Amino acid sequence: MDLGIAGRKAIVCAASKGLGRGVAEKLAAAGVHLTLNARGAEALEATAADLSERYAVSIKTVAADVTTEQGRAQLLETEPAADILINNAGGPPPGMWTDWSEEAWLKAVGANMLTPIMLIKAVLPGMIERGWGRVVNITSSSVKAPIGNLGLSTGARCGLTGYVAGTARQVAKHGVVINNLLPGMHETDRLSGRIESDARNRGVSYEQARADLAASIPTGHLGRAQDFGAVGAFLCSEHVGFMVGQNVLLDGGMINATF
Ligand code: NAP
Repeated sequence: MDLGIAGRKAIVCAASKGLGRGVAEKLAAAGVHLTLNARGAEALEATAADLSERYAVSIKTVAADVTTEQGRAQLLETEPAADILINNAGGPPPGMWTDWSEEAWLKAVGANMLTPIMLIKAVLPGMIERGWGRVVNITSSSVKAPIGNLGLSTGARCGLTGYVAGTARQVAKHGVVINNLLPGMHETDRLSGRIESDARNRGVSYEQARADLAASIPTGHLGRAQDFGAVGAFLCSEHVGFMVGQNVLLDGGMINATF
């Protein structure tokens, strides 16, 4: 399917690896010019080199922490007229409600709620002026079904979800569409870390813990970054002009719910 976005310009945050990279790759395949971000320059440059070898799009890189004001300013200076914004950053650490300090909460809210909100606020005026824009926020299945030890992540992302619900409806008449994409269990470095710690806690091998996790998902396998990327790129396409403020769950049916 032609996504109808060739020649558009996208900022993709936290995109040297994992889900952000998955979306960047599918956008590049659709002919979108990219500004890619991550903190570590080495992996970021390697990703940019790999994508520019395979796709005829221009790729700029910004090695910076997107959760800082300075990092966001660098991104917006590098690409001041983004048509597409993919919001993403690392998630807060797991833990127990008894341990989470005010400082930990402020950090989580800063990274996973205020960072995307500030970037959205910065790109919307240009998108509205040009009469076209797409924003996709990578959040988590935990906004639909909580995961006990990921309360910091869930709390911050639910705040973002509430903001998007209202804001998406205010800008839709200008051709600007904002949606959230909710990953379930996708096999990335982050998930590998969780599988490792599950294996340690249960005294089983990594392979066993991975197989058990996969078996708990109706598809029988973990999600893949490239499949996530394909859905992410579709949410940036011409075809989603009537799809406003939605929370698209991509979890292989893991959450057992009718809606
Ligand atoms: P990942 O494989 O660990 O990749 C994270 C990417 O983000 C890397 O490129 C990393 O590069 C970059 N990054 C992290 N923090 C950053 C920051 N502050 N500024 C700029 N770049 C940053 O993670 P992932 O699995 O793709 O997850 C992406 C997001 O989805 C996370 O918020 C995660 O919590 C959420 N999520 C993932 C899953 C899943 O199954 N994978 C499920 C639910 C939610 P640098 O380290 O070099 O910065």
